Amino acid sequence: MEELISFLLYAGFFYFIMRFTCGAHLVHGSHQHKQEKSIDPVCGMEVSQEKGFSKMYQGKEYRFCSRNCLIKFDDTPDVYLNSDGDTP
Ligand SMILES: [Zn+2]
Repeated sequence: MEELISFLLYAGFFYFIMRFTCGAHLVHGSHQHKQEKSIDPVCGMEVSQEKGFSKMYQGKEYRFCSRNCLIKFDDTPDVYLNSDGDTP
């Protein structure tokens, strides 16, 4: 009986490790691939695909949390792209 319990513990432990190593990598990879959220270049907020406002500028789609940010960007897009475009 003791052997069975230790076997189950060992198996459970192994399963746990597998989930946290390989599983975490898989989840992380698919998240990077999907990119469901964009950064609002005006205020720096995260905006998800189904929310906010979007605008195509120089062949790239930018997303904005609010109409205010969209209007600000429309006025002076270069200001926001130069200051926030190259994040390290
Ligand atoms: Zn915003």
